[in-house]
Amino acid sequence: MTWFNHKVCTFSVVFLLTRDIIVSILSAMASIIPDLIEGFRYDERWQQNHRRLSHWFILYLLMLVLGLVILSRYGINPFIHISIDVFKVISYTDTLQVAIIGYFWLIIGLGGLMHILQDSLSAPVPLLHPNKRVFRLANIRVNSFTEYAICFGMFLLAVLVMWGRGGGL
Ligand SMILES: [Zn+2]
Repeated sequence: MTWFNHKVCTFSVVFLLTRDIIVSILSAMASIIPDLIEGFRYDERWQQNHRRLSHWFILYLLMLVLGLVILSRYGINPFIHISIDVFKVISYTDTLQVAIIGYFWLIIGLGGLMHILQDSLSAPVPLLHPNKRVFRLANIRVNSFTEYAICFGMFLLAVLVMWGRGGGL
């Protein structure tokens, strides 16, 4: 999936899951992290290590769970109005950093998981072992019409839901 489509798709799916536009935008930005950590030197070594540890869902799942645990300690329901609640907590708690760290982990976790899921639509990604690329959902060509159709279909759905409820928050 292209980085553009990773962002569009992540924004849409996270919005449909959380109904929180800020979390959706930040997750969309975080959704290219698994590729970013691999760097820009597309040589043989990159080829060999591509989609291994950086694309291991367990790491991002742990970050997401960590974020959820931290946020729930502040009484924040992580499934609805996350941003509003985080900002409320920030405004009255003196342990501000901890709530922000929880929010940060939640977003990186979400973005990473979405990226890996989206990659698995066109290529194998690791499952239980970070070095074994064995899981693949589909065989859609990168930058193909199908890829754009899926991402923009999700985006349209997210916009319709946003519209239906009169805003993103
Ligand atoms: Zn990737």
